Amino acid sequence: MVDCLFCKMASGQIKPDVVYEDDELLAFRDIHPQAPLHVLVIPKRHISNLNELDDTALGGRLLQTAARLAAELGYAESGYRTVFNCNNDGGQTVFHLHLHVLGGRQMHWPPG
Ligand code: 5GP
Ligand code: ZN
Repeated sequence: MVDCLFCKMASGQIKPDVVYEDDELLAFRDIHPQAPLHVLVIPKRHISNLNELDDTALGGRLLQTAARLAAELGYAESGYRTVFNCNNDGGQTVFHLHLHVLGGRQMHWPPG
């Protein structure tokens, strides 16, 4: 996708603060962190949001990568939250699938 911000990150055209990369996934720090830990895990392939996720193995690797990074960065015990925002009511603003990983402060439920 030519005009997709996260595709540009996946291709290296824009360089975020990367915490993990492999052939199919990229994880980087959110530019406006909502918690001491705020990482986004994305597939390098353009998928607009959870409605369009067509690969169960990829979805599993996204989730496992989020958990592994949370652990490696020191948040497994204290805890963390993972979130996919989808479309308008979900609060999605960037239309390339991304899994938020938030930690380092007390989260509240229900979210606003
Ligand atoms: P959404 O609201 O779509 O679930 O989340 C999009 C996230 O992308 C937001 O938390 C926002 O701060 C983050 N974001 C938007 N633009 C950039 C950017 O240029 N760099 C980084 N690292 N994060 C961004
Ligand atoms: Zn994209």
